[in-house]
Amino acid sequence: ENGTFIDNASLFPSFGFNAQYLITDRHERRKRDLPQRPRANKLEDTSRYGESGFGKGVTFIDFETTVSTSSDQIAIAPGYLQKEWQDNGRRYFHYKMDAPIVNFFSYLSARHKVKKDVHNGVNIEVYYHPEHNWNVDVMVKSVKDSLDYFTHAFGPYQHRQMRIIEFPGYRSFAQSFANTVPYSEEIGFIADLRDPEDIDYVYYVTAHEVAHQWWGHQVGAANVQGQSIIVESLSQYSAIMVLRERFGEEKMRRFLKYELDRYLRGRGSELIEEMPFMRSESQQYIHYRKGSVVMMAILDRLGEERVNTALKNFLEDYKFSDAPYPTTLDLQAALNTQATEEEQQFIADLFERITLYDLKMLSAETDETNEGKIQVTMTVSAAKFEAEGDGRETEREVDEYIDIALFSGDPEDVSGDTKVLYNQKHKLTNGENTITVTVEEKPAYVGVDPFVKMIDRDSGDNVIQL
Ligand SMILES: [Zn+2]
Repeated sequence: ENGTFIDNASLFPSFGFNAQYLITDRHERRKRDLPQRPRANKLEDTSRYGESGFGKGVTFIDFETTVSTSSDQIAIAPGYLQKEWQDNGRRYFHYKMDAPIVNFFSYLSARHKVKKDVHNGVNIEVYYHPEHNWNVDVMVKSVKDSLDYFTHAFGPYQHRQMRIIEFPGYRSFAQSFANTVPYSEEIGFIADLRDPEDIDYVYYVTAHEVAHQWWGHQVGAANVQGQSIIVESLSQYSAIMVLRERFGEEKMRRFLKYELDRYLRGRGSELIEEMPFMRSESQQYIHYRKGSVVMMAILDRLGEERVNTALKNFLEDYKFSDAPYPTTLDLQAALNTQATEEEQQFIADLFERITLYDLKMLSAETDETNEGKIQVTMTVSAAKFEAEGDGRETEREVDEYIDIALFSGDPEDVSGDTKVLYNQKHKLTNGENTITVTVEEKPAYVGVDPFVKMIDRDSGDNVIQL
């Protein structure tokens, strides 16, 4: 009655065989004597490199459409409004796109209010239910910050408008279509962001959806394992970079800890097999949650400039291209061109294997030196494991440089009062390590990998209070 959102796959017939309609439930398949069905095509299956996740023959298209709706509603589709008119009690809209789009689009219609803004030649519009105005400005700010960062880091935005459209909370997600982002009232418009301790997830989700205009809409991904890494993990990375610019690196700890914990919980409830990062089979706990931690670990090693150069080159190589679409092998190769041999090994560890650390701050003592400085002696335990897809683990050698940091207050506190008094990488090996550092001010908390750059089985024991 008020709030329609439908995509082309639900609206129009499609030709040929659609594998998405196959029975996926494993028990249901067994009951019907059907063979097991792989979740994804093998990464090495080059015969699938010419098709994207949307299926065979679904590629970049030219787009133009006319849609009508009730006379008191606004109807939205991708493209720029060419003409609007009333006829026979219906309201008509003619839209046309001027850049190639993925053959995946949506129609929306509702009695919306519109907030309009312009940023460097891009029209920003938020269509919202008139009573849900609380976070509209946060969305506009996030779109601006995202466009700035992504344009600078990865290359130009392909459109001249970005629209966010509220839809009712029967579903709870946001989704990026070409320059059009349907956004559920549930995850943004009615969010209560008054507590400054909370992560501003409206700002974050908006940045993620804007990032898809690059990852997914400029660069597709081949229909093989790891496909969602290119589309989703790179959008996670991009959104975190915008979040980091806005709220500061220190405040990212809480966010990344949340992502890490969700990854760990996700692998605990895996029913079939956990895949290594680059072979994720549309496993959300891998391409979203682990994706954030993996990309931040690579950022920590390579730095912003080298990571973004790698991603920019990767994007330029595959922009609007379907022959072939890239895979995670291409992504890894792009990152490797910016990495030393040692860093390439680190990337391989993250991409090719399921590696888990167990880092723990066991104890810490302080002493005053003759010069009136503070000497802090810490005992840190370290272990590293490589896991199989079924969860079995083998212990591996730890031989890495890992962050040791001292804080003036609780690093969990995101209000901004906590100072980082010391933050350096120290080489850790298996078992107990003793580390001594000298600082000017007495710390209140000490931590090993406190900024969550490693995949740690329990990040809750990494920081202790003195
Ligand atoms: Zn996404």
